[in-house]
Order: sequence, then C-alpha cells, then structure tokens
Amino acid sequence: MDAIEAAQVLSEIGYLLRQDPEERFRAKAFSAAAWSLAVQRPDLASLHESNGLTSIEGVGAGIAKVLTELMETGRSRYLDRLREQMKQPAWDDETKLDFTRYQGDVHSHSNWSDGRATMLEMARGAEAMGYRYLGVTDHSPRIKVVNGLDAERLLAQSREMAEVQAQVPSVALLQGIEVDILEDGALDLPDVVLELLDVVIASPHVKLRQEPAAMTERMLRAVSHPHVDVIGHPTGRRPGSREGASYDFEAVFKEAARHHVALEIDCDPARMDLSPEMARLALDLGCNFTLDADAHAPAEFAYVPMGMWMARRAGIPQARILNFLDLDALTSALG
Ligand SMILES: [Zn+2]
Ligand SMILES: [Zn+2]
Repeated sequence: MDAIEAAQVLSEIGYLLRQDPEERFRAKAFSAAAWSLAVQRPDLASLHESNGLTSIEGVGAGIAKVLTELMETGRSRYLDRLREQMKQPAWDDETKLDFTRYQGDVHSHSNWSDGRATMLEMARGAEAMGYRYLGVTDHSPRIKVVNGLDAERLLAQSREMAEVQAQVPSVALLQGIEVDILEDGALDLPDVVLELLDVVIASPHVKLRQEPAAMTERMLRAVSHPHVDVIGHPTGRRPGSREGASYDFEAVFKEAARHHVALEIDCDPARMDLSPEMARLALDLGCNFTLDADAHAPAEFAYVPMGMWMARRAGIPQARILNFLDLDALTSALG
C-alpha cells in the first residue's frame, strides 16, 4: 500500500467520522493526516519497518495503528466498521482509479480572487503534481468579499496568465471562471464574457436553503446554459456543519447529462461534494464528472489524490471523469 492509497483510507475515515458531531476533532485529525500523506508521499513500508510512522506530520499513535494494519493486511477494520455503522453503500469499481493517470485539475483559485497564492505559484504547484493542464477558475463579481473578477479584470488576468504560461510551459493553463449561479438560475457574468473562457464552472454559493421547487428551477436553468461546462460542488454542503441545497436531483442530473454538463466531485475535505451516493445517482443518469481539489494554495492540489476514493466508492469508471482526458480531448469535451 503506497502513501496515496493510505491517504484515501484515512480520508474516507475522516469523512465518515464527520457525520457524527461528537467525532469532529477526530475527523479533522484523520483528514489532516490524509492530506499530509498525499502531500509528502512518505515511504510507508520503510517507516513501518523502522517503527517510524508517527514521524509523519499529523500521525499520532491512533492513526499509526490504522496505518500499521493497512501495511500488514491491506485493510482497515476500523474503516470497515464505520462503513457498516453509517450504512455506506459500496459500488467500488473494478477499474480502480489510478492517480498516476490523472491529467490535471480544472478548478482552482489564485490571488486574483480568494486564493492564497499567485498564478505562478499555482502553476508551479500543478507542475510539481505532474499535471498537464490546470484550470484557473477564480470567482465571479457577485462574491464581493473575495474580489470576484469582472470582464475587465479577466482581461488583465489573461495577460498575466500568458506570462505565467511562458514560465511554466509543461502545464497548459486554461483560463476559466467559477461563476455564481444567481437565485433565479442566471449566471453572474454575461454570455459574451463566458464564451471567451476555456472552462466555465457554475456553482451555487448563496441562498442554498431556497425551497426545493425554486432551487430545482435555478439548477435546471444553470445546467441548460450553453456556456456552462461543469457544475461546481453541486449541493454546496459542508459535511458535519452545513446541509447542502435540496432540489430534484434526478431532474437536474438528467438535464446535465443531456447538455453534456459535468458534475464535480469537489475533493476539499470540508466539501466532499458530490457525495459518493449522489455521484452514483448522477452516474446512473448518464452524467460525466470532474474530480477537482478546488485548491486555494498549491498544497491543496493533494486533495484530489486523497479524495479520489469518493469516485471509486461511487463506482465511476475513468472514462466518465474529464480529468483523465488528455489536453486535446479535454478541450473538445469543454467545447
Ligand atoms: Zn465554490
Ligand atoms: Zn472554487
């Protein structure tokens, strides 16, 4: 078992613990340890042999015990028990998604909006992950607190992006936007702006508690928009702290499939949205997916390798996830 596989086990444990408010701290500890494994990718076999697992950042005695069992048996009885307790369905696919075939992340932020790093730092981070492309998708203007981008700032951003591209030629930078889905389902930027961008992620951020009929109309309108490529974190939930939006998921996912709009599995441990159950529903209804970190700093790119278990658990084959396409295929899929 390598560090990334182990990170996925710890991440799933963290996710399941989050459902229980009393386990909040333990949940965070597991997620943090998973992240640390995914970022640093330590050699677990030799650390196990030398009794050095607790030297990994974020790994205390309890988590070391889980890792030891993983190294010795390839399984975690603790995880098995949690899955059973939480009645987690399993559709684990046989293709076993392999992070080494993941080509790039299409949802990330820079300090042009609420990211904590420059575009250059993000591009270098993607390069360090071995990615072939990176979608830079900062926020749209409506979210004032994060300094969202209007047409003018997008133009300025594209000039900086050209400079960054020249410095990091191995990662194709895609200029995009994470555009807000407004209360009535309209988008927070005009069509003439959206159509110039390489990738358009439409996300619900505010008014998530709209009553379901209105929320359904809102989401149906968003997935029918001709320039939308992906619906970001489709429910807006925060496991353990905020329930997501509730709408007619079946109707919306069907419409997304019809319009070739992908649904995101946002791997940020604070989001994990879509959940494996919801992703399974979307899969059955014919949707494609993206698997993104929604990174706000380079180290957060590691949310994908640690969170990939969600897609595996939902039984989503590689062919249905856009991030496994090479750049040409991705570009034509994004239209
Ligand atoms: Zn978002
Ligand atoms: Zn985002």
